[in-house]
Amino acid sequence: MSDSVSLSGVGIGRGLALGPILRMPDPLPEPADVASTVGADAEKVRSAGALAATAADIRLRGQRAGGAAKDVLDAQAFMAEDPTLKDDVDARITSGKTAERAVYEAFAAFRDLLTSMGGYMGERATDLNDVSQRVVAHLQGVSAPGVPDPDYKFVLVARDLAPADTALLDLDKVLALITSDGGPTSHTAILAREKSIVAVVGATGALELTDDQTVIVDATTGAVTVDPTDEQKAAAEATIASRAAAADVPVGPGALADGTAVPLLANLGSVDGAEPAIEKGAEGVGLFRTEFLFLDADRAPTVAEQQEKYTQLLTAFAGKKVVVRALDAGADKPLSFLNDAPEENPALGLRGIRALRANEPILRDQLTALANADAATDADLWVMAPMVSTVEESRYFTKLAKELGIKTAGVMIEVPAAALLADRILPETDFASIGTNDLTQYTLAADRLLGSVASFQDPWHPAVLRLVGEVGRAGASLGKPVGICGEAAADPLLAVVLVGLGATSLSMSPAALADVRAELARFSLDQAKEFAELALSANSAVEARVAVVNAANAFTTSISTITESE
Ligand code: PEP
Ligand code: MG
Repeated sequence: MSDSVSLSGVGIGRGLALGPILRMPDPLPEPADVASTVGADAEKVRSAGALAATAADIRLRGQRAGGAAKDVLDAQAFMAEDPTLKDDVDARITSGKTAERAVYEAFAAFRDLLTSMGGYMGERATDLNDVSQRVVAHLQGVSAPGVPDPDYKFVLVARDLAPADTALLDLDKVLALITSDGGPTSHTAILAREKSIVAVVGATGALELTDDQTVIVDATTGAVTVDPTDEQKAAAEATIASRAAAADVPVGPGALADGTAVPLLANLGSVDGAEPAIEKGAEGVGLFRTEFLFLDADRAPTVAEQQEKYTQLLTAFAGKKVVVRALDAGADKPLSFLNDAPEENPALGLRGIRALRANEPILRDQLTALANADAATDADLWVMAPMVSTVEESRYFTKLAKELGIKTAGVMIEVPAAALLADRILPETDFASIGTNDLTQYTLAADRLLGSVASFQDPWHPAVLRLVGEVGRAGASLGKPVGICGEAAADPLLAVVLVGLGATSLSMSPAALADVRAELARFSLDQAKEFAELALSANSAVEARVAVVNAANAFTTSISTITESE
């Protein structure tokens, strides 16, 4: 039982942290509105000097921080140097204000203007407050308000951190960040994301937290648990330790603990995604969703238009495997040039390979563009058909693709009929890739876009896993690769189960690669098969998951017991 309270906000990233709170010191008080004792000219010299010194100081911090922090801080330095703002300060001084008061008022007026614009500009308002405080601190000869620097690790709580502070946070000391203000596009959020700081922004009630309290900050859910129970602390510590272990696994090829290779590939929908995917260790592309390139097009793309994009993609992955999917149009991804007739039930309509077949010249153009791009580059191109449901479709697509110069042609298994007949479909083609998103939708008869049936959309369901197992078994006996490219592959423990069911590669959004890589490295192929058996013998998705989580935990506990007694 828990009697701790929770706050909630917007979590940035996926981290978790546990520690004592330290509040950001209160900002400087508003400078008093009193008459200047030194005269306007002297006040103008003082304010000009303070603005210039503050700009220089912020710029220096930016140089030290580098990366996105530098851009943010350079923008702040520009604010301090803004000639319109300086004119406003001077005008206020001329009317009798002190430099401190004039700076305070001029920045506040500018800030109110930005706030009234809302959105992205509104979120820049905090930056102005920070610059204002720094200029006033300089004028008063006191240190600028900043992040506390105790000799222990802490969770920093602030109204909204200034970019200068976020950029320079000592990550050895600051376990996490909680702000009461700021949204997901505030600079605090942008920088926290870049620096992988565990953060929850916009947490209502954060300012009521006090320095003696302990919190668990969960960026995945955006929850802040205040004064957690011992059980909650222990669970958080275990999660933090396993995430740290995951981060320590070097970026390298995916493999099980016994060395069985499980290539980890990226799901991409644009060429821009290539570089970040490679940085995260993607060993190639397991699903390139070509329809994403043409969602807005009102006519079919030409061979030349397509060839240019595919050449860029294959060039980025030179020497690596790239699985490109032929246009998967229909249902939630209609393409006007492929799906022109309105349908009552588009998820069960003329979609995927059916729509391509009904418009064969478009399919021929795409395959030709892909073959041309392949000939001009060094990647290992595989091309697959979406939403195949019959043996005949598999034969049709593979024959046409080969005829047009595609060396490796395969099919996606997303329809239960195709999974059940995998032993007859696979002989007709070179490989299969299982799309667990649609396979789950069609197996459970639950629209993947409909919130009211979302609980049915669980790829842990033993019926879905049994179908995956059918394909895995067919692939193994025929010596044909079977990849997984649905979201299921991004769930680390389910990924182990999928390998146990016969998947030979896993493809996922690049952000999931590290966690999946780490989880695979914990278990052998025999264990993966054991987990698969446990999941298959469950009666529901929940039971399957619980059974496998328990088996995995039991294994982890026995390992740590052995290690401790050594
Ligand atoms: C799938 O259905 O699992 C799949 C990978 O394809 P998409 O999500 O693009 O339908
Ligand atoms: Mg699909």
